[in-house]
Amino acid sequence: MPLSRGTGRSDPKPKLSDPYLLVKAYQEPTVCPSCGLVFHKKRWLRDEHILSEVSDVAQKHKCPACRKIDDHYVMGQVIVSGNFFLTIKDEMVNLIHNQEKKESFRNPLARIMSLKFEQNNLVVETTTDNLAVMIGKAIQRSYNGELNINFSNNKIARVDWSRNLEPSKVKRNK
Ligand SMILES: [Zn+2]
Repeated sequence: MPLSRGTGRSDPKPKLSDPYLLVKAYQEPTVCPSCGLVFHKKRWLRDEHILSEVSDVAQKHKCPACRKIDDHYVMGQVIVSGNFFLTIKDEMVNLIHNQEKKESFRNPLARIMSLKFEQNNLVVETTTDNLAVMIGKAIQRSYNGELNINFSNNKIARVDWSRNLEPSKVKRNK
């Protein structure tokens, strides 16, 4: 598996302001009925121990990540293009899911909202800008290619990655 180790690397900092973290004041403890995160000491945590301790008394409200998914409020979009990734589709999808797993330890509100093949591209939507940037950088570390990251209108991180094979290699790999 072409997974990067990810050690000694500084985490990307969020660049976009996240309205879902600001508009709603949650009381403590609150449990998200959709995903089971707990709001504890002003943070959303995935913690089974705290969850079992507070679940009887906790308020039940959806966490910011589940609300974004309901509203389809996308904060990151990754578009993988070029004919190279078509030769390693499963590997690419695994790498993307592994980045989600890795980032969720740091921020359990970072999720993949959707991952789908559109024409010859792979399009991934995420609940945070960081996760989209991490996915793009991980793809480039593993497969080189060309990476472009744009923060458009201060609303969404748009991450484009592309790599094309030499025409002769496309034939050989078919
Ligand atoms: Zn949730």
